[in-house]
Amino acid sequence: MAPLTPHWVRPSHPEIQEVVINEAEFQSKSLSKVALPAWDLYARLDFPPCTDAAEPTYATVQYGRDKHLNLNSDLLYINHSCEPSLIFDMGRLAVIAGPKGIQPGEELTFFYPSTEWDMAQPFDCLCGTETCRGRISGAGDMTAEQLSGLFLNKHIHELLEQKASNGNGNVASGNGASSAAVNDEDDSSALLGAENLANIARELREASDRAEKAAAAACRALAALQVRQAGLLKAGKKANGVSPAATFNAAASSLRRGPTSRELSGEMGGDTSFST
Ligand SMILES: [Zn+2]
Repeated sequence: MAPLTPHWVRPSHPEIQEVVINEAEFQSKSLSKVALPAWDLYARLDFPPCTDAAEPTYATVQYGRDKHLNLNSDLLYINHSCEPSLIFDMGRLAVIAGPKGIQPGEELTFFYPSTEWDMAQPFDCLCGTETCRGRISGAGDMTAEQLSGLFLNKHIHELLEQKASNGNGNVASGNGASSAAVNDEDDSSALLGAENLANIARELREASDRAEKAAAAACRALAALQVRQAGLLKAGKKANGVSPAATFNAAASSLRRGPTSRELSGEMGGDTSFST
């Protein structure tokens, strides 16, 4: 994020955040001053200093379908990364450590499309991570593949589902009243407790477990299929009456009964049927 002239008293989070500004290169970044385990609370997004914003800007974070807040603090200097160290959990108005936790000196980053549906200024990501998504824009303009495997806020999931069901890439407008009602529920859950954090951790662990199990199951099924395919090709040459293609198709269809794409996507929220 480009340097800006702060209108708040700096530093705003001196105990936990070191802001490094390179004015010559119009760059800034933030480093952690604290060590936190995965999912632990890093900072709350309280009102104030946060204020509601009428429109998204470079200085806002989206926290509902039609709701944006001005951070009004040094948290604005947290850059984007495709392998972020932090999660902005906007339903709970909290910034929490990512799945690897965070160490002092580590750069503070979050995945911008996890909160933003539209982004006025898309950019080419230079995070340099193995899983870099390339062109970063609002989630509404990114592909499912680009968004996979990362925490996304509830309002982003809802908008993605709406986009998918519309089938035309446009999210229907004119539903401001109903979405505002939904968002009011988010407000009431804004108070962050240890229980909420535990829930986030549990949801993320479950999503991770499901993805691992699904991947392992798919690998096993594929290996079994390949063994069977090799055997059938041999048998087919002997023309012993069993159609290799029919048996192969049966095996393939059993593979398709595996995990759903929803499970593989690691999607969060809503699905609480899975218990540990
Ligand atoms: Zn990147």
